[in-house]
Amino acid sequence: MTSQTIANTPDPDRIRRAPKVLLHDHLDGGLRPGTVAELALETGYTGLPETDPDKLALWFHQAADSGSLERYLETFSHTVGVMQTRDALVRVAAECAEDLAEDGVVYAEVRYAPEQHLDGGLTLEEVVEAVNEGFRQGERRARENGHRIRVGALLTAMRHAARALEIAELANRYRDLGVVGFDIAGAEAGYPPTRHLDAFEYLKRANNHFTIHAGEAFGLPSIWQALQWCGADRLGHGVRIIDDIHVRDDGTVELGRLASYVRDKRIPLELCPSSNLQTGAAPSYAEHPIGLLRQLHFRATVNTDNRLMSHTSMSREFEHLVDAFGYTLDDLQWFSVNAMKSAFIPFDERLAMINDVIKPGYAELKSEWLFRQTASTSGFTGK
Ligand SMILES: [Zn+2]
Repeated sequence: MTSQTIANTPDPDRIRRAPKVLLHDHLDGGLRPGTVAELALETGYTGLPETDPDKLALWFHQAADSGSLERYLETFSHTVGVMQTRDALVRVAAECAEDLAEDGVVYAEVRYAPEQHLDGGLTLEEVVEAVNEGFRQGERRARENGHRIRVGALLTAMRHAARALEIAELANRYRDLGVVGFDIAGAEAGYPPTRHLDAFEYLKRANNHFTIHAGEAFGLPSIWQALQWCGADRLGHGVRIIDDIHVRDDGTVELGRLASYVRDKRIPLELCPSSNLQTGAAPSYAEHPIGLLRQLHFRATVNTDNRLMSHTSMSREFEHLVDAFGYTLDDLQWFSVNAMKSAFIPFDERLAMINDVIKPGYAELKSEWLFRQTASTSGFTGK
């Protein structure tokens, strides 16, 4: 290996220090296990299967690992169960921002469903304001620890419920006040995104942004509806677009009409490899469609989905992909720039993040070998 090849090889330390961008992360899927246990005590929540943080962490991972999306979603009853007070929401959001910053994430859009945090008597507005306050606190604490991160909120409406328009209006009201967009989530089967057309129509009239969970458990029709009926800016997962891509025996590739549309229009795919392995949407990292989608230059991004349930982080996702596909720092930069281009903040801010934070960050990592070489020859005494 030449020095430059070594320079481009991402080891875990470099992956953690590399500037990363995260577009698909659930607030109620990323709690610290210790925080779940403490909040349960504080708030009187008695439903936890374990109270020891290590055992609890293991329980979440195993329950989420069962292979079915429905079972995976069950684990959320406990995290959401302890997030019903203002203080709990502030704490969880602040720790989320801190943890992401510690992991080298410089920009994140974190989503949650305000309608799921009303059991303790909070209003929708109070939920949004508590989470916003938490993100600001977390950003400040990260800065004190030498990390820089910016976190925007996405407000999610649940597919099986009927409050999508109300949540879309809420997202619009808190626009420029910490909320950068809207999303719908929950079990895909039986709950097509077209049930919530009024919300999407409203957001389009308001020139606002939204992503839709589609093409995870359910295939192409869900992706098609999300794009062509609802007008989604991005696809939450979208991994099943692979069903519309045909690799021939000679290695050439043919894209169907929908896959072509997604690639031609640069529709961002919020891919979440570890989560897909747990829900059975992909058999292994090496066989995950992200490999082919990257080769074919789809607007692919890498995401965590639920850090607690999938026992993951942005760095871990990158490590898995480096192991599976031999990705270099250039590939990781490509994913990061893709994600930043696809964020919901204004264009000039995205551009500044790419040019002033992401590219210099990767350049710095790639240039380290120059200085290591100097150090290794500095012992030369001239003999
Ligand atoms: Zn998700």
